[in-house]
Amino acid sequence: MMEAPPATTTTAEDCCVKVAVHIRPLIGDEKLQACQDCVAVVPGKPQVQLGTHSFTFDHVYGSSGSPSSAMFEDCVSPLVDGLFQGYNATVLAYGQTGSGKTYTMGTGFKDGYQAGLIPQAMTALFNKIKTLQDKIEFQLHVSFIEILKEEVRDLLDSKSEITHGQNGKLNSPGKPPIQIRETSNGVITLAGSTECSIKTLKEMSDCLEHGSLSRATGSTNMNNQSSRSHAIFTITLEQMSKTDSNDSMCDEYLCAKLHLVDLAGSERAKRTGSDGMRFKEGVHINKGLLALGNVISALGDEKKRKEGAHVPYRDSKLTRLLQDSLGGNSRTVMIACVSPADINAEETLNTLKYANRARNIRNKPVVNR
Ligand code: ADP
Ligand code: MG
Repeated sequence: MMEAPPATTTTAEDCCVKVAVHIRPLIGDEKLQACQDCVAVVPGKPQVQLGTHSFTFDHVYGSSGSPSSAMFEDCVSPLVDGLFQGYNATVLAYGQTGSGKTYTMGTGFKDGYQAGLIPQAMTALFNKIKTLQDKIEFQLHVSFIEILKEEVRDLLDSKSEITHGQNGKLNSPGKPPIQIRETSNGVITLAGSTECSIKTLKEMSDCLEHGSLSRATGSTNMNNQSSRSHAIFTITLEQMSKTDSNDSMCDEYLCAKLHLVDLAGSERAKRTGSDGMRFKEGVHINKGLLALGNVISALGDEKKRKEGAHVPYRDSKLTRLLQDSLGGNSRTVMIACVSPADINAEETLNTLKYANRARNIRNKPVVNR
């Protein structure tokens, strides 16, 4: 019942990083500027065309509206199921500011963001728990943090008001900074962050809504709600067998976590017209996304991996935090979000290239016990 799949039954396909593209519809400003749609989906294929460039992904979702249940079923549902088998997982929403990352991930059940992947993941998780709870005792925790300028901030701590000091540093008065630590068996933990114990779907969605409201946003020329931080909503699932079993294949305890990551805008600092403090944020955000790209690239290079090449997780807070859930014993999905508008073609091309690089990763399946 608590049996973990032997590593040999996990196919290479299960273990590589899946990459999907989500093309949102043209929105208000773009329509007002009479922008043309420049991103085409090849009919019947998970292929995107932009000018003379063509890219193939695992899935492509056209501009038909909200993140559909099909996107959830294809991309996230297998990761939720994997949690029950002890596999860590990460969902990354990547793309320029305004491309639909937050819309795709969702911020709760109340507004237009209700169809997002996080609310759907929560619902699926609780449905599955319901079917198993006679035999298994579950414990759920969530944390919600953001990384801004290489500092980690707790989005679930109501006292952690954001202030910007003279030196441009993020201050959270009276609280020691949150630290990323690694246990002796390679598990990454966040020392000092709020871990909410969760009993119901409502409690979990309250955490998502509360944290989303508290997320720091800054204005830039591109979008006055543009988010300059990486937001990471993490669900930890612990399972304990309720029945005594003599079956040696029956595990007593499994623990796995699902990171749902709304990455910072991928646009180059020069395009945001940033200066002063805002520019510093841009530089640091690029550092996180750059490190993520390098980690993904190192994991995807089969030859180098066989030679035991160094994977540069320590180059940013983002990659350090995701270290045990990106590569190793984890399943990863990247959703590349793009605008269809011709004025965004250059950034859309950058996004498609970055996402295309991620398709080569193969993770080594190991189960957490
Ligand atoms: P990001 O988080 O990447 O900066 P947002 O998720 O905030 O982008 O989306 C930017 C704007 O586009 C928002 O007004 C949002 O409501 C709208 N939008 C994004 N994706 C969609 C979609 N699939 N359908 C309709 N509107 C969308
Ligand atoms: Mg956003």
